Amino acid sequence: MSQVQLEHIDKVFGGQQVLDDVEIDINNGEFVVFVGPSGCGKTTLMRTIAGLEQPSAGRVTINDRDVTRQHPAERGVAMVFQSYALYPHMTVAQNIGFGLRLSNKSKAEIDQAVQEVAGILQIESLLARKPAALSGGQRQRVAIGRAIVRDPDVFLFDEPLSNLDASLRVQMRVELIKLHRRLEATMVYVTHDQTEAMTMADRIVVLNNGQVEQIGTPLTLYRHPRNYFVASFIGSPKMNFLSVDCEHVDDAGVTVRLADDTQLTVPVDDNDVQAGSELTLGVRPEHLGINEGVNGPADAYISAQVTVVEHLGSESLVHAHLANGMELALKTSGHDTIEADDNLHIAIRTPLCHLFNGNGEALKPLEKQAEPAEA
Ligand code: ATP
Repeated sequence: MSQVQLEHIDKVFGGQQVLDDVEIDINNGEFVVFVGPSGCGKTTLMRTIAGLEQPSAGRVTINDRDVTRQHPAERGVAMVFQSYALYPHMTVAQNIGFGLRLSNKSKAEIDQAVQEVAGILQIESLLARKPAALSGGQRQRVAIGRAIVRDPDVFLFDEPLSNLDASLRVQMRVELIKLHRRLEATMVYVTHDQTEAMTMADRIVVLNNGQVEQIGTPLTLYRHPRNYFVASFIGSPKMNFLSVDCEHVDDAGVTVRLADDTQLTVPVDDNDVQAGSELTLGVRPEHLGINEGVNGPADAYISAQVTVVEHLGSESLVHAHLANGMELALKTSGHDTIEADDNLHIAIRTPLCHLFNGNGEALKPLEKQAEPAEA
């Protein structure tokens, strides 16, 4: 059953359309992450679910109830923001229980609910403290506790971890994944962070200029981006893009020529692509090899000269340029001895390549092609 439905949502702020015909169905118990560049409308969409913004057109339903004109408090949602906004003069226990006090529950009921939530978040020992005596991570836990105690149908998280330092973010990310499993709750989450989106989401919604570009599981978006925008947005480090010319199209796929005359036959299909069309070849840094293909024999090699090597420990990111000056990056295992100015034969496996037409749309993989093994 879909629990949250966004139907043809538009939002216009002072003449500027910031949400454009957004349609998303979120299933019961699903963890859905909204990603997209700054200003693409993620927060506005989240606030529209919460009832903090009214859509200019369209309908929001929660549990099959049309809540489009309903007050936020009547929607059964709880929102956790980037800034925790705790009451400084109240203890942790009072902060968590505050919403319940407003709902006229007895003191015993509130105490029990607060204890239960503190147990889930492992903050029992902090209940008597004031927010000033807490770390950033502890404050964020209290803010999440305030949401859990209300037992909402839907949790809405707007970049809840972005004020935390890197190691605490990783820790809280894992905590939130566990929390989602434990509560089996529907969660909608906005983030700028690739890793958060890829690791937490059941499905990711990629937004751009107020429109949905693609919705899918993290691996679907990674393996089968629908277009250039999604391909360039999902994946870290970013996919490499090279301008290529179409040589010919046959049953084996689309054969393209790179600027150094290397030819590649990418197993994709498209009736509209003809010899001479300009296309964009996309290949991820982790799908390029040095001298050997990644998980299988190489289908082609391109020559490149190393410009910079970034050693990250477990792996290195090698930046190189082709004879025509185009740049690309490839990932290698960390102990490689590659240095700037080295000449490389970069191995490409064509089933791991993507092709995009002049409109930025991905050409579809040939049906008979088996899914290549991932690196
Ligand atoms: P970020 O990642 O930077 O937080 P976002 O994707 O969450 O961005 P929104 O905050 O939803 O984007 O904003 C989308 C667009 O709507 C932006 O151009 C923003 O300036 C505009 N906007 C948001 N709120 C208002 C408002 N209350 N009045 C006018 N314009 C607004």
